[in-house]
Amino acid sequence: MIKYGCQNINDADIDAVTSVLRSDYLTTGPKVPEFEASLRKIIGVEHAIAVNSGTAALHLSCLGLDLGQKDRLWTTPISFVASANCGRYCGAEVDFCDIDPDSWNIDANALEKKLEIASIQNILPKILVVVHFSGVPCEMDKISELATHYGVRVIEDASHALGATYQGQAVGDCTYSDSTVFSFHPVKLITTAEGGAITTAKRDLYDSLTLLRTHGITRNKDQMVGELQGPWIYEQLSLGYNYRMNDLSASLGLSQLNRLGKFIQRRQQIAQYYSEKFMELPISMQRIEKDMKSAHHLYVVRLQGEKVEHERKRIFEYMRERGIGVNVHYIPIHLQPYYRDQGHQYGDYPQSEEFYRGCLSLPIHPSLTDAEVETVAETFVRGVR
Ligand SMILES: *Cc1c(COP(=O)(O)O)cnc(C)c1O
Repeated sequence: MIKYGCQNINDADIDAVTSVLRSDYLTTGPKVPEFEASLRKIIGVEHAIAVNSGTAALHLSCLGLDLGQKDRLWTTPISFVASANCGRYCGAEVDFCDIDPDSWNIDANALEKKLEIASIQNILPKILVVVHFSGVPCEMDKISELATHYGVRVIEDASHALGATYQGQAVGDCTYSDSTVFSFHPVKLITTAEGGAITTAKRDLYDSLTLLRTHGITRNKDQMVGELQGPWIYEQLSLGYNYRMNDLSASLGLSQLNRLGKFIQRRQQIAQYYSEKFMELPISMQRIEKDMKSAHHLYVVRLQGEKVEHERKRIFEYMRERGIGVNVHYIPIHLQPYYRDQGHQYGDYPQSEEFYRGCLSLPIHPSLTDAEVETVAETFVRGVR
């Protein structure tokens, strides 16, 4: 089966990890700050915090921005459930904003209308999680202007967008947000096995995230509130978690970051090849504005037609029967039983629901050979016709 996404591991990666296995540190040691420094440099941002998953990065970002029981968090239905679950971890109510039918990202106009109404009803969200779907950045300048106007904090879920650029700057530099979250799960742009990171330009947020990552405990005397009983002293200042990255993961991440440029280049090549091959097909692709560069985490097409859901199912099965691991990204979050139980229902977000009926993800990752890419394209063209 040709997988839709897959890690790319070479000898340098293996050497990097085995050298950590032979060292003194298996948990957080010198490799974690090295990995964070490398992320900071590549992205061009003040602070980076490595954690043990993208989900942990989302949860910590919400905690760092003081999301609590009486608050609300908004995101889009077309994402992985983690983009919404982080709000629920903090006891906040989760609500959604529909996607744009062409960019497949959050619709800034729909957001404006929803904020206007929420403001009148006094139910504005504390946090908005925007998702750079498939690696294409959201319209951050418009979104951040709205968020600033209504006093809403912005978290960018850039799990798909490490290496993407917006207005010539790397996604994650936090020009338009409070923090940006990355995932290093094996199917993402680089991998640390499990892992994630948060970037931010805000010093105070960085300080609280650092505490929250490790139980809320500090060993820094300047931060302590009680008396210094001895050199063994540490203080727990808040309720934190064990969300630390380990040195095995960090060393793998460091080694992978060396090839990020190559990875993106190969993904771009594959995306371009597909797009040329599919020019004549009755499908639509994601709109990418001129001031954006996608990281091409996913290659998603939208099928068209009267009974698009039947057509999608037919092509899905056609491809799978021929060994091509197509997938569907995503089932709208608000239609998941858990979120239906919270009061969300079918019909709430028509653009997201319509998108879901016809979307299909084709394999794209740097380990694909040219022959495999050709096979995927030819099979898909035959399947659609
Ligand atoms: C993968 C992903 C996550 C979660 O990342 P993990 O590292 O698997 O916890 C969150 N949001 C989006 C959009 C993702 O694709």
